[in-house]
This record gives sequence, structure tokens and C-alpha cells, in this order.
Amino acid sequence: MHLSHIRVILNTNGRNAKMKKNAVIDSKKNIEKIVSLLKKKYPELQTALFYKTPLQLLVATILSAQCTDKKVNEVTKTLFKKYTSADDFAAARQVDVEQEIRQTGFFRNKAKNIIAAAQKIRNDFGGNVPDSMDKLISLPGVARKTANIVLSSAYKKAEGIAVDTHVKRLSQRLGLSTQKNPDKIERDLMALVPKKYWLDFNYLLVNHGRDTCDAKKPLCSSCTLSSICPSAGTLKNSA
Ligand code: SF4
Repeated sequence: MHLSHIRVILNTNGRNAKMKKNAVIDSKKNIEKIVSLLKKKYPELQTALFYKTPLQLLVATILSAQCTDKKVNEVTKTLFKKYTSADDFAAARQVDVEQEIRQTGFFRNKAKNIIAAAQKIRNDFGGNVPDSMDKLISLPGVARKTANIVLSSAYKKAEGIAVDTHVKRLSQRLGLSTQKNPDKIERDLMALVPKKYWLDFNYLLVNHGRDTCDAKKPLCSSCTLSSICPSAGTLKNSA
């Protein structure tokens, strides 16, 4: 290859690397702004799911898949009176649990997972919901999203960032990830977001996604992040 061609390739690669580095620096700067603006908007960071124990949070989070938090809270009000420990859930008949949680949708699968997870908690973890990512994701029906919610809310431990439908959508719109797979989005976020914000990051984006950055009709003109959001005003049906 001619020397001038090699130089062009080297220059282009150098430029690309610099542009990539600048993009990462910009995204990191934006994270600080995103967090401070959203913290002003949502000073109270609490999951909307009702729970008193790690087990209740685990069950409520499993039930919240494809269901509103309001409906889950209605259902768990009675459910948690009937089943008060991992032993109770582990010994439950599937048909009884199905009946209790029917209104949350996908109730057969959810009942099966809740009972199987409770049996493993009883058999392998002395009846206590484990407090590490590795152990939590060993429970049937528990993936990283659910494990992250239990770890951050019940144990105040930051081992990752829960990526649900809101975090997925907002990460893409805010230019924090180009990935579609939640585990890959989480990896991008963990590389960009300083660890001190991991506990809050899911709640901040979830609240903002519900209030303002709606999937179908984002309210860009009144959005607190519009000055730093690359998608501001560019989305279909944005207002
Ligand atoms: S500016 Fe629009 S797309 Fe960006 S975060 Fe706000 S509502 Fe969402």
C-alpha cells in the first residue's frame, strides 16, 4: 500500500477515535445534567410498588411485568395478607395463587415463577431473599431488571441499573445507548453513569418517562431535558 494511503487511514482512524471520545465525554457531561435536572423534578425517589419486606418487593416486581403499579398494589393488598413468608408461597397451590393475581395478566406464568422462586429461597437461602445479583438471578423468573430493583430498593445496593421499558426508551432518545437489548443498554449505562447515581437512575428515568417522555406522545416543548436531548422535537407526535 502506498505511504500516503496509510497516512490517510491513520488520520481517519485518529479522527474517528477522537470523535468517539468526544461523544463519550459529551454523554458523560449530559449525565450530570440529566441527573441534576431530574432530581430537582423528582426529589422523592421511591418505587410506586407497595412493599414492606424484600420478599414482598420481589413478588410485586414479578407481578408488575406488563401491568400497572396501581393494579399490582391492589392485588398485593390481599395477597400479602394470605402469604406472609417464602414458606407460605413455596407451599401454595398454583391454582390458588393464580386466582389471587389473575388481574395482573400472564397470571399462570407469574404464579409458577413466584412459587418456584419461593421454593428456592426456602431451600437454598434459608427463607431470605438473597442480596446479591448472582443469587437473585438464580431464582426462577428473576432477570437483571427485577434483581436490580430488589437490590436497589430493598437492600440499597447498586450492582447495576434496572432497564425497563421506560429506561430503554429514554436511554435511546437521550443518546445514551443505541442498543435494543436491555442487558446491552444496561452495560452502556453502567459505563456512562457514575456509580453514585446507579441507585436513583432507574426511578428518575421511569418517572420522567411516565410524566413527560411518553412512548407515543413525548412532551418535548415542556420537557426539562429539551436543551440537552438530541431527540427533542424530532419524534413523531411530539408536542
Ligand atoms: S426532549 Fe422529548 S424526547 Fe427528549 S427527553 Fe424530553 S420528552 Fe423525551
